[in-house]
Amino acid sequence: MLSVIAAFFMGSCNIPAQNINQQTNTQRTESQASKASVPIKPKSEIKEAKLIAVGDIMMHDTQTRSGYDPKRQTYNFDSFFTPVKNILSTGDWVIGNLETPLAGKDVGGYTGYPLFNAPAQLLDATKKAGFNILTTANNHALDRGEKGVIKTIANIRDRKIASTGTARSAAEGDRILISTKNNISLAVLAYTYGTNGIPIPQGKDYLVSLINEKKIVKDIAKARKKGADAIAISLHFGDEYQRHPNPQQQQLVENLLKAGADIILGSHPHVVQPYKIFKFPGKNGKTRKAVAIYSMGNFISGQTKDYTNLGVIFQVNIRKKIPEKTTEIIGIKTMPTWVHRYTLNDRLKYRVLPLEKTVTQKKDSLLATSQYPVLKTYLQKMNNHLNPLNSKKKNK
Ligand SMILES: [Zn+2]
Repeated sequence: MLSVIAAFFMGSCNIPAQNINQQTNTQRTESQASKASVPIKPKSEIKEAKLIAVGDIMMHDTQTRSGYDPKRQTYNFDSFFTPVKNILSTGDWVIGNLETPLAGKDVGGYTGYPLFNAPAQLLDATKKAGFNILTTANNHALDRGEKGVIKTIANIRDRKIASTGTARSAAEGDRILISTKNNISLAVLAYTYGTNGIPIPQGKDYLVSLINEKKIVKDIAKARKKGADAIAISLHFGDEYQRHPNPQQQQLVENLLKAGADIILGSHPHVVQPYKIFKFPGKNGKTRKAVAIYSMGNFISGQTKDYTNLGVIFQVNIRKKIPEKTTEIIGIKTMPTWVHRYTLNDRLKYRVLPLEKTVTQKKDSLLATSQYPVLKTYLQKMNNHLNPLNSKKKNK
């Protein structure tokens, strides 16, 4: 079993073919240079890769029903993410929080809130949309017990998607997920505040990774030791339906960034909370930039409360200097999204729309003309909401 996992992780660390060609060219140039007896200096290069993250991928029973095909007696959820696929697929790392077990129908049937279990076809849709990393540490991780954790991970691996935050064994739990794209190694860690009061089976703490500041700080050090150039941490935390982070969230985020994390990806409140850019003293008198988004809201859900149908695609580029091996985060971008509920062939359907593109193009065949001004207001509100912590006046 372990060798399969190891092979998978190696598979996720492929250097793109284009990059290999570049290296070959570099070697050729260097060998020509050495013939002319010019001292060989390590060539300085700048590499860049893009992280894209979204919040909670939830599966309420109305959503499960929306994907059912009675003729074939099977499920298909591909249409959930079709409108955002173009954005997501530009990411080198595309991360989402899978907030439901995919334990199989035989483990208590498919259900929505309060104890989730969804068809594994949800993963086919996420895969097609471009997701390549799912975090599974959240308060619904144990909704189908240990069996659910194990089956969910197996389903994810079957589709060659990486995941972190839950584990099937102590050994698997000890592993740090490191994914290398364009020569940049990103460690992704994931933790949750709890499991909705469902106790973690005794002696099996590895099943779900819980927020424990000391443990996370150790994991950060471990990730660096294993060669991570940058570290992103998914934290499932905060107060539900609160649009601003609480003091505990803020303190934990600051401590983890100070301890060496670069990017914090928050989820759980079901609504979007702002992001904040931090500056810490770095090596050689330089400043080190880090960023945290306290909550990315629901990416998709059947929830209808205020703001729960709004989410955000969060983008951060990571730049690495070679041979110095220093990294910095650049190009932080937020793209608000909206969950559109609509009826097609007498059936309630769901899809995630990128707000800016939708209101700019005004070409969506499933939207009424009267909806565009409403969506435009959502977009403006979200843009204002996402960035207040970074205005110069408020920054120390
Ligand atoms: Zn949650």
